[in-house]
Amino acid sequence: MKPRILSGMRPSGRLHLGHWCGALENWVHLQDDYENYHLVADWHVLTTNYENTADIWTHTIDMVIDWLATGIDPNKNVIFIQSHVKEHAELHLLFSMLVTVPRLERNPTVKEQIRELHLENRVSYGHLGYPVLQAADILIYRANAVPVGEDQVPHVELTREIARRFNQLYGEVFPEPEALVTEFSRLPGLDGTKMSKSKNNAILLSDEPEEIRKKVMMAITDPLKVRRGDPGRPNVCTIFNYHKKFNSREVSEIEKDCQSGVLGCVACKQNLAEKLTQYLEPFRHKRQSLEKDRDYIRQVLEQGNRQARQQAAATMELVRHAMKIGYMMEI
Ligand code: ATP
Ligand code: MG
Repeated sequence: MKPRILSGMRPSGRLHLGHWCGALENWVHLQDDYENYHLVADWHVLTTNYENTADIWTHTIDMVIDWLATGIDPNKNVIFIQSHVKEHAELHLLFSMLVTVPRLERNPTVKEQIRELHLENRVSYGHLGYPVLQAADILIYRANAVPVGEDQVPHVELTREIARRFNQLYGEVFPEPEALVTEFSRLPGLDGTKMSKSKNNAILLSDEPEEIRKKVMMAITDPLKVRRGDPGRPNVCTIFNYHKKFNSREVSEIEKDCQSGVLGCVACKQNLAEKLTQYLEPFRHKRQSLEKDRDYIRQVLEQGNRQARQQAAATMELVRHAMKIGYMMEI
């Protein structure tokens, strides 16, 4: 039997290169060797955006189209929506008893988010606890592996702790899943900080060539390289980072010419914009045809929801029996 993957993303709009490099590319590459479960993490959107729920559905469809356009095959992957499998909420409640509040407050990813969004003293109970919901998302499918970006690694560690604790207390139900990270597990955005939609520093997978060019030209490079001729430092340059990933054939030449000063930033950026456009072309093409086929997207989700529900229900039977709660015992 194949080992199982669970991974998900929040439907917060169209996907960007960070999503692709950190997680989605791995999903595509691993889809033949694993049994694959991928969830649209719509409840998780509420952690940072509970006041405004009107766009969650549109973003869900947009994200699923992005997934399919990169090559995620619905015949090899269970693609489903978190809020359509209510068992996640039951398991989250049970798990929430096994984790202390100080343990959640130590989570570096949540801390960073609280800092960046200025939520100090205002963080909600649900936001602080979202890694516990994530543990439920993963363990309800008894997944062995979780392909994610670097920011999610602490959550997988917490998931392992919860699995261990549950198994010790109530009997062996859950495997301890491991995180699978890629070489580009924290892709920088145009401003040099982590690429993120909320920071306006992202290149979207669906950006048109002109948009890609405009964004690339805006990106920061080595601040000490002011004009052509100045020697550059590729290791601190965001554009060079992108060349490493999207233009690997020319990367050693670019490194040399940047360091010597022969290559200026404008030419280097123009080259990258071209390579990125080529790289994303097949994706854009496939996306356009998927956009017209809404019935197909609905079918994929309905089938995925059904399959996920079945699996989640089976795990919850094991959980309720292990914990001796939630079903009628002999009277
Ligand atoms: P954004 O950060 O753009 O607002 P998000 O936080 O809503 O997106 P998530 O659902 O948290 O997106 O992330 C989906 C997956 O993509 C996760 O595995 C995450 O680690 C990965 N990821 C997101 N941004 C990056 C990045 N810049 N580099 C590498 N991986 C990333
Ligand atoms: Mg994130």
